[in-house]
Amino acid sequence: MSRILVIGGGVAGLTTAIALRHAGLSATVCEAHPTGADGRGAFLTIMANGRDALRAVDAEHLVLERSFASRQVRMRDSHDRGLGVLTIPTPDPDHGPRTMRRADLYRALADEAVRRGVEIEHGKRLVGARHHGGVTAFFAEDSRIGGDLLIGADGVRSTTRSLIDPKAPQPEYTGWHSVMGAVRDALPADDYDSYYMYFGRRATCGHITAPDGETWWFANLPCGEQELAGASPTELRRRLGDLFAGDRIGTVRAIRATGDDQITAAACYQLPTVPTWSRAGMTLVGDALHVASPSTTQGASMAIEDGVTLAMCLRDIPDTTAALHAYERLRRERVERVVRTGFRRPGPRLPGPLRRLLRDRAVARRTRHPDTDWLHLHHIDWGGGVSL
Ligand SMILES: Cc1cc2nc3c(=O)[nH]c(=O)nc-3n(C[C@H](O)[C@H](O)[C@H](O)COP(=O)(O)OP(=O)(O)OC[C@H]3O[C@@H](n4cnc5c(N)ncnc54)[C@H](O)[C@@H]3O)c2cc1C
Repeated sequence: MSRILVIGGGVAGLTTAIALRHAGLSATVCEAHPTGADGRGAFLTIMANGRDALRAVDAEHLVLERSFASRQVRMRDSHDRGLGVLTIPTPDPDHGPRTMRRADLYRALADEAVRRGVEIEHGKRLVGARHHGGVTAFFAEDSRIGGDLLIGADGVRSTTRSLIDPKAPQPEYTGWHSVMGAVRDALPADDYDSYYMYFGRRATCGHITAPDGETWWFANLPCGEQELAGASPTELRRRLGDLFAGDRIGTVRAIRATGDDQITAAACYQLPTVPTWSRAGMTLVGDALHVASPSTTQGASMAIEDGVTLAMCLRDIPDTTAALHAYERLRRERVERVVRTGFRRPGPRLPGPLRRLLRDRAVARRTRHPDTDWLHLHHIDWGGGVSL
C-alpha cells in the first residue's frame, strides 16, 4: 500500500500513523488545525491497556518520560470525609495508569511520528472524499491528496464517519461539560499517586497533584450543550463556585486559585455504536468511532488500541477490504462494551456499584477485579499475526 491518509492529528491519528510506520507502511496525517496541540490545563490518564498498546509499537516511553503513576482514587463526600479508596486496576504495579498533560502527549506523539517518517500536514480540513479503487481526499482550502486508504481519526464530530455512512449516528450530548484546570502550589503535593474524587451535594469534581506541585483538576458541570460557548474563565469559575457553594471540597481551593489561561471546558458526548465502520476505502479510529464517558478514562487508551490493531491488520492481510473486516472483528465488541461501562451522568451520589465495591476495603484495594480485568489486562501481541 503506497500511501495511507490519516485524517486528524489527535491521539488516535498520531498513534495510528506511528503504528503504520512500525508495520512498514506509509502514513500522511492531515490535521485541520493550523498548528499542533494546545489543551491548556487539560490532562488525561493512560490506562494499563493503553500503555500495553503503545509498548507493542515501541512507543510507551513517550508516556513514561512525561507522566507520573496514578495508583488509587480517594473518594470523599461534600464534608471532605473519606468514602473509601479504590485501587486502579493494573496487571502489575509497574504497568499501571499514568497521568500527564494532554498537550505533552500530543507533542511527544507528533515528534515521534515525524521521527519515524510520517508526514504531518496542518491546516488541512477534510470536507469530502471520492473512491476510485484508491481514495482522493478533498480539503476545505480547495486542495486534494490521493491515497490507497483513508483513516478517519477526526474525533467526535467526524467528517469521515458521515462520508462512510451519511446516516451514521451522531454523538449524543450527555448533559454536562467537564471543566478542567491546572494550578501550581494550591494543594499539598505529598500524595501525588492519588486521584481525589469528591461527591459534592450538587455535582462531582476531583484533582490530582503532580510531583512538581501542579494540581490538575476537573469538575462536572451540568448544563445545556451550547450554554458555555464563549464562556470566559471568570464565568466558568463563577459557575463552579455556585455549584460547590457550601461544600467543603479540596478541589474548590484549586479551582479558585487557577489563572485564566489555565481553565478550559469540554462538552461530554457518548457514541455507543457506529453501524458501518468501513466503506469505499475509508475506515475510522478513536472518538470518530466510539465515544465513552470521561469517567471510563479510556478514550485515549482505546484510540491507541484501535490504531495499533488496525496497523497489524493492514500489515498481515494484503486485501484491504479483508483487513478492515478483521479490524472490526477484533475491535467492535470491546469498544462498545467500554462505552457501556461509563457513567452517563456523573451525579453527586456515589454510584451503587462503586458503593458496594468500596464497602469491602480488601476488595477495593485489589489491583485485579474479575469484572474489569477484560478492560485493563487487554494485551496486543504485535508479533502474533492477524488472520482472516
Ligand atoms: C473532559 C474529558 C476528559 C477526558 N479524560 C480522559 C482520560 O483521562 N483518559 C483517556 O483515555 N481519555 C480521556 N478522555 C477522552 C480522550 O480525550 C479522547 O477519547 C481522545 O482524545 C480521542 O482522541 P482522538 O484522536 O480520537 O480525537 P481528538 O483528540 O478529538 O482528535 C481529533 C483531531 O482531528 C482533527 N479534525 C477534526 N475534524 C477534522 C477534519 N475534518 N479534517 C482534518 N482534521 C480534523 C481535530 O482538530 C483533532 O486534532 C477525556 C475526554 C474528555 C472530554
